[in-house]
Amino acid sequence: MCGIVGYIGSRPARPFLVEGLTRLEYRGYDSAGVAVLGASGTTVVKQVGRVRQLEQTLPKRMAGKLGIGHTRWATHGPATAANAHPHQGAAGRIALVHNGIIDNAAGLRAQLTESGIALSSDTDTEVLAHLIERSAADTLEDAVLDALERVTGTYALAVIDTAHPDRIVVARSGSPLILGVGSGEMLIASDLAALVRHTNQVVHLDDGELATVTAGGFATFDRSRTATERQPVEIAVAAEDLEHSGYETYLLKELHEQPAAAELVMRGRLDERFATTRLDGLRMDPRELRSFTRVKILGCGSAYYIGQFGAQLIEDLARIPADAEPASEFRYRQPIIEPSTLYVVVSQSGETADTAFAVAEIRRKGGRVVGLVNVVGSTIARAVDGGIYLHAGPEISVASTKALTNMGVAFALLAVHLGRLHDLSFADGQRILAALHRLPGQIEQILGDDGAIAAIAARLAGARSALYIGRVRGFPVAREGAQKLKEISYIHAEAYQTSELKHGPLALIDPDLPTVAVIGDDALTDRNIAAAQQVLARGGPVYAITHPGVDLAHLPVETIVVPKSEPELDPLLMIIPTQLLAYHAAVALGRDVDKPRNLAKSVTVE
Ligand code: GLU
Repeated sequence: MCGIVGYIGSRPARPFLVEGLTRLEYRGYDSAGVAVLGASGTTVVKQVGRVRQLEQTLPKRMAGKLGIGHTRWATHGPATAANAHPHQGAAGRIALVHNGIIDNAAGLRAQLTESGIALSSDTDTEVLAHLIERSAADTLEDAVLDALERVTGTYALAVIDTAHPDRIVVARSGSPLILGVGSGEMLIASDLAALVRHTNQVVHLDDGELATVTAGGFATFDRSRTATERQPVEIAVAAEDLEHSGYETYLLKELHEQPAAAELVMRGRLDERFATTRLDGLRMDPRELRSFTRVKILGCGSAYYIGQFGAQLIEDLARIPADAEPASEFRYRQPIIEPSTLYVVVSQSGETADTAFAVAEIRRKGGRVVGLVNVVGSTIARAVDGGIYLHAGPEISVASTKALTNMGVAFALLAVHLGRLHDLSFADGQRILAALHRLPGQIEQILGDDGAIAAIAARLAGARSALYIGRVRGFPVAREGAQKLKEISYIHAEAYQTSELKHGPLALIDPDLPTVAVIGDDALTDRNIAAAQQVLARGGPVYAITHPGVDLAHLPVETIVVPKSEPELDPLLMIIPTQLLAYHAAVALGRDVDKPRNLAKSVTVE
């Protein structure tokens, strides 16, 4: 989940390394470091905290034209300077940065200690530096291969060697790594965000692939040292998309990009003539799609919650049994993979390790899997049988907003598509398509009028804990709302089915515990109002996310009124205020909303 960068060329490496790390900081940010190889050997500088703190401690003059850098998201050992990357071998010849986890590190650390090596960090990564440095192989490539023979786990690696100052050797297994091709220089990064300003020609390494990177180019090969032929591809992301121009934070910018992003995921995919959707990316013909008797949705965090919305939508519109499950649990519980089930995986980055493992498990056992993925060409996008790209544009803020909304819209496209191959009527197909057309404008309306939301958020900011309640379609809204509040404001929040309140959590209600209640205009309105009254009767403050048709005037409830869509799609609009609630509460508390503590964008470790 960390960021890796590397540079080799005719210019000093330092500016690219620092700028690249700053771009990647959203991926992991507890500590950072660089190693630059110059005339007098390798200089390593590491620092706890953010990249700008690292920058302040870097020597003014660093002329080396070869270097690697890293922002860490600790898995082994706390965030200290000693544990920050790059790590070096005992002789200081090898320096490397690593993203991922070496599973057998404990045993290897013991062996190294026994053979007289004094380890200088708590990390799993350090063993790799020693193993490579101690290899008897003549070339750096063979030394890296030797070391990789001895480790199990996941990695993206970039290695430099004072004995081979003309190259960086990189390897990938389970964590992303991209080469950027420049003129007279080569760049390395774990994420396109570090590369787009410098080149538009990139090579995504495959799992099991390594590369020798020199100023003049690159050569890829596999573990048996056989060359793999890789041609650079052009990247589609524009550099401006990666700025938060005009907004204080990426989160606020991405929140406001939702109407435009929602247009993009629908573009060219709505087929009014047949009241269905065009999803050629699924790469499945109607006969195959019709043969599925069940849909299983897998995602992590917010992608899982929106998956619950998706499952409900597929059951409603296509009448196919569907459910969602955290991808992180799936592969560890011996899931039954059925050929008649359509598996749908959901991931913004397309690099979520837990989700990628679930895909591998499904495919190994013969299941058919499609992906709802934002990042084009990412690991999951390449591993699935087909899918729906989300076209939300780059999402930098750790908390997902526009990608999440587009996941929801993509589920609607899929549900209509499946529905029209089963028994969804033409009229109902049209009804949903018309609602989808209205959606971007309605999101705009909610975003444009967030005064009431900010006022309620100010009150949430004063609470230690909050309850989010909703039922059936409203429940994923409550879950996602609670998650957002937790992750960016650090206020504890819990989501419950409104119907479950009296079976336990009602005991918590008192004047200090605010409840955010999803009360839509639907078949359950009266039941939901009754539950809100039970909370109020026990002195708990209630804030309702509701619709124009719902009469709450007789209750002491503050309301956030969102425009009505079709019942099946209402949750997509009701989620928007929960994003704003979390945003305003977090800002009121002075949190770094783009980089919440302990988290990272794109969770590439298990
Ligand atoms: N496992 C390594 C560590 O704890 C790398 C973590 C990362 O991907 O940032 O240092």
